Amino acid sequence: MGRLVRLSLTVYLNGRLVPYEEAVIPVEDRSFLLADGIYEVARVYKGKPFGMEAHLKRLARSARELRMPEPNLPEIERVSRELITINNLSEATIYIQVSRGAYNPRTHAFPAGEVKPFVVVIARPFSPNVSGHQNGVKAVTTPDQRWARCDIKSVALLPNVLAKQKAAEAGAYEAIFVRDGYAIEGSSSNFMAVLDGEIRTYPTCNYILGGITRDVVLDLARKLGYPVREEGIPVDALPRCTEMWVTSTTSEIMPIVEIDGHVVGDGRPGPIASALLEAFMKLV
Ligand code: PMP
Repeated sequence: MGRLVRLSLTVYLNGRLVPYEEAVIPVEDRSFLLADGIYEVARVYKGKPFGMEAHLKRLARSARELRMPEPNLPEIERVSRELITINNLSEATIYIQVSRGAYNPRTHAFPAGEVKPFVVVIARPFSPNVSGHQNGVKAVTTPDQRWARCDIKSVALLPNVLAKQKAAEAGAYEAIFVRDGYAIEGSSSNFMAVLDGEIRTYPTCNYILGGITRDVVLDLARKLGYPVREEGIPVDALPRCTEMWVTSTTSEIMPIVEIDGHVVGDGRPGPIASALLEAFMKLV
């Protein structure tokens, strides 16, 4: 991490496969100027994308909600697989970004005339955080300063960036957003906890992103017979939670063993998180 490192990857840039170094976006691209773009991150296990259909469906929904043209999903899917092959990837992530496109002069309102979205797909190697899975991670809480459409996966991520930086400076893995007294989701993950013997997580609505991993994990939890309640966890109740974890495409199921300096459970990943992680790994 750090500076921009040269990568010997081929990436997809609006209809063309190009070397990473040559993949440049127009200077007046609206995702660059106005954060007027949407994205997805999918995980590749042993060369196969996981949950691609759900990711593409969410991408199309984000586009619809922002009144962008429907992305060419079959093309994005085909290109994603091609990039895995060309770049010889096994454990990897696929980053898909669709910007409303580049126009001049810069205006806030949608461009007059035809909208030509700008599509980027980057597939790159990925190493999962195995020690986090085994030992658990720390988290901090932080006030949610985002807009009221967090269900749209937009590239406007500054509040998420600041929250993750707060976590990093505290030596923590994730920051959990608090809205109206409830711990609702992480800066790049969904949040779950075990309260009074039930798995609790905030219901999908405009205040959180409907995570693909969240859906998979809740499904697994129900199949394993754990009671699930899609209801917010009051921050006051966090000290009573016996387990906590976050879910995301790249974190999978990441146990939290310390939050705001308080130890969760016995300070080790709990039995439910561990059982879910095991079931999740079997699935993928
Ligand atoms: N919430 C936010 C704010 C996120 O950025 C992410 C990761 N994209 C998630 C939740 C988890 O979503 P998913 O499981 O689809 O990766």
